[in-house]
Amino acid sequence: MPTSSCPIVALVGRPNVGKSTLFNRITRSRKALVDPTPGVTRDRHYDRVVWEEQPFILVDTGGIDDNPEDLLVSHIREQAMAAIDEADIIVFLMDGRAGLNPADHEVAEILRRTEKPILYVVNKIDGPEQEQEQLAPFYELGVDRLWSLSAEHTYGFKTLMEGLVGILADRTAADAAVDLPENTVKVAFLGRPNVGKSSMINQILGEERMVVSDISGTTRDSVDTLLVRGKYSYLLIDTAGIRRKGKTREKLEKFSILKSLAALERCDVAVILIDAGEGMTEQDTRVIGYALEQGRGLIVLVNKWDLVAGDRKRQEEIMAQVGLALPFLGFAPLMTVSALTGYGIKRLFPVIGSVYRQFKAKFPTAALNRLLREAVEEHSPPVYKNKRLKFYYTSQIGTCPPKFVIMTNSSKGVHFSYERYLLNRFREGLGLDKVPIQIFFRDKGEQREK
Ligand code: GDP
Ligand code: GDP
Repeated sequence: MPTSSCPIVALVGRPNVGKSTLFNRITRSRKALVDPTPGVTRDRHYDRVVWEEQPFILVDTGGIDDNPEDLLVSHIREQAMAAIDEADIIVFLMDGRAGLNPADHEVAEILRRTEKPILYVVNKIDGPEQEQEQLAPFYELGVDRLWSLSAEHTYGFKTLMEGLVGILADRTAADAAVDLPENTVKVAFLGRPNVGKSSMINQILGEERMVVSDISGTTRDSVDTLLVRGKYSYLLIDTAGIRRKGKTREKLEKFSILKSLAALERCDVAVILIDAGEGMTEQDTRVIGYALEQGRGLIVLVNKWDLVAGDRKRQEEIMAQVGLALPFLGFAPLMTVSALTGYGIKRLFPVIGSVYRQFKAKFPTAALNRLLREAVEEHSPPVYKNKRLKFYYTSQIGTCPPKFVIMTNSSKGVHFSYERYLLNRFREGLGLDKVPIQIFFRDKGEQREK
C-alpha cells in the first residue's frame, strides 16, 4: 500500500506581481479539478487542485497574510521563509514589466537556502515580442531557469504547468515506492500549533510493546511513524510544523490548515486535537469540516485535560462548547486526554481501530434487505400524495463512510423524520455507532409499481 501524498505548492512574491491572477488561472482553468468543499467557509487563498491527475494544494501566500499596509520587504521575507518551511514546491513570481526589484533579490537569496524545488517565474510577459528584453534583467539572479509567463493572457502558462506537474509526478513516484504492511491504518494527528500533537505522538511512542520505524517521504519534511501493535499496524502522520515564536505565529496557524488538508488527503482516520485550556476555535471547526467532506474517520480529542482536572465546572463548559460547535457530529468519538500525563491515551487505539473498521465495513445485500424490511414493518412509512410510501430493496454502494441506496416508489415522499428513523435503524442494526453513514433514496421505475 503506497503512502500517496498531497504536496503544497506555494505562490510567493511581492504584492502586485500577479500571484492571485495565477492562482485564479490555475484553480479556474478547465483542466483543474478543484475540490468544491461544500458547506465550509472557503478561503480564497488556497485550494485543492488536481492537474493531469496530480493532486496538490495551491496556496497564495500573499493572500495568507494580506495586510495592505504591510508591503515591506521584511514582510515578504517572512512570507518566503514560511513558504520554505511549510510548502513542498515554491513558485516565485516576479514582475517582468517592473523589472528586477531589490526585494526580489532578497527573496531569491532566502529561497536559495532550501533544497525544495523552486520555479523562478517572470510574469507579465504578455507575448514573445519583448520576451528577451523583459527577461534580461532577471538573469542577474543567476538561477538555472527562468520561466516566462503571462498569468493574465496565458502566454507560457502551459509550459509552466507542464514543468510543475513534472516535478510533482517525480516526487509522487518516489513516495509511492514506500510500502506499508497490508491493512495499515493511516492516522493523522491534526490541530492548531501547540495543541499537543507532537507530545501526543511521543507519549504514544513511549508506550511499551510496540515496534516503531520512521518512514520519511520526499514530498514532506515531516517523518511518519509506522507502529506495529499486536496484529495491527498504524502509520502516524504528524502535522506539527515548525515552531517559531512571536509574529509568525498567526501565519503559521494558517499554514497549519494547509498541513491538515495535505494530511487529510492521505489518512484513513483523522484525530483532531482541541486544547482544553483554550476551547474550540473556528479553525478547529473548519478542519473537522474538511475531514468530514473528504470522507475520513474522525475522532475528537480534548487534550490538556490535566489543566482542568478537578475543575468540574470548566470541564462541563468545555464539553458543552465542543458539543455546540459540532451538533452534527453525534457519531464521532469524543475523548478527553492528556499528552502530558498519558491520561486517556491507552483508550485511543481501540477507538481508532473501531472507527477504521466501521468506516471500511461492507455488508451483504441480504442482511441489509432484512434490516430494511424489519424497520418498515415496525414503523410504517407515511402516505405521500395519497400513496403509501414503499421501500423495495437496498444495497450498499460505497464505504468510507458506508453509503446505501434504498429503492422507493417516491424518493420525494421520504420525509426528513422517516429518513432519520431509517438512518438510526441502519446505524443500530449494522453496529455503525462511530462513523457517519449516508442513505440515498432512488425512484424505482414506474412500471414495477403496483
Ligand atoms: P498579487 O498582488 O501578486 O496577487 O497580484 P495580482 O494577481 O493581484 O495582479 C496585480 C496586477 O497585475 C493586476 O492589475 C493584474 O491584472 C496584473 N497582472 C497580473 N498578471 C498579469 C500579466 O500576466 N500581464 C499583465 N499585463 N498584467 C498582469
Ligand atoms: P504541537 O505544536 O501541536 O505539536 O504541540 P506540542 O506537542 O509541541 O505541545 C505544545 C505545548 O503544550 C508544549 O509545551 C507541551 O508540553 C504542552 N502540552 C502538550 N500536551 C499537553 C497536555 O496534555 N497537558 C499540558 N498541560 N500541556 C501539554
